[in-house]
Amino acid sequence: MSDKEMLYEGKAKILYKGPRADTIIQYFKDDATAFNNVKKGTIAGKGIINNKITELVMTRLSQIGIPTHFIERMSDREQLVHEVDIIPLEVIVRNTVAGTMAKTFGIEEGLRLPRPIIEFSLKDDDLGDPLIPENHILVLGIAKEDELIEIMEMTSKVNDFLRGFFAGVGIELIDFKLEFGRLNDGEDGHFIVLADEFSPDNCRLWDYETGEKMDKDRFRRDLGGEVEAYQEVARRLGVSLELEDKE
Ligand code: 5GP
Repeated sequence: MSDKEMLYEGKAKILYKGPRADTIIQYFKDDATAFNNVKKGTIAGKGIINNKITELVMTRLSQIGIPTHFIERMSDREQLVHEVDIIPLEVIVRNTVAGTMAKTFGIEEGLRLPRPIIEFSLKDDDLGDPLIPENHILVLGIAKEDELIEIMEMTSKVNDFLRGFFAGVGIELIDFKLEFGRLNDGEDGHFIVLADEFSPDNCRLWDYETGEKMDKDRFRRDLGGEVEAYQEVARRLGVSLELEDKE
């Protein structure tokens, strides 16, 4: 990787300058963090699994008309994406109560909601990614009203599709986090695309039959078996973990 120009190192990914103008290479690491970087560790092979699951999910979403930043997977741990101006919001969808929602409102995890909730957090580690109301997003100029409407429409479509997609392999999609960016349209404007990744790092996945957690909560909550859980999600989705590169 040393011949590539590093742009940014995040908690789970490194971004490098891509081979063509306005492209970026996302390199997926095995590093895992939780509770805003307080807990750190690694999940062996996670980077490869997350790269390949993200490829599958982004490809399927673009087939149902969701524009994404994804261009192609380049290797076991790398994918080429369009460079976008990331909107600093974490867009969270909740189908079933878990995590922060359970804690904040004192509700037991596992309550299926009558309809999905979409909420926003400001993407800012120093502030601990605080929940941000729509009004604040608009007044602070983080996103415009039409952008927010588009983000919510796209997020609903993503949720409808992915709930069925995971249900088809016996997995309940409890909640997840998305990020969106503005992609230059080549003229004066831009359009909103789904960015970042979709993997067991940023969603909660429970086995339909046993309720077993198959996501990063295994790491966050010291449940063990995180490598096997990530591998099992990949296996059920038909994602091959056969190595293509020499590591
Ligand atoms: P919660 O708000 O309950 O902690 O998380 C809700 C969902 O969004 C979970 O699926 C969780 O994995 C995801 N999520 C929330 N914040 C982050 C974050 O900062 N990074 C990642 N990777 N996922 C997040």
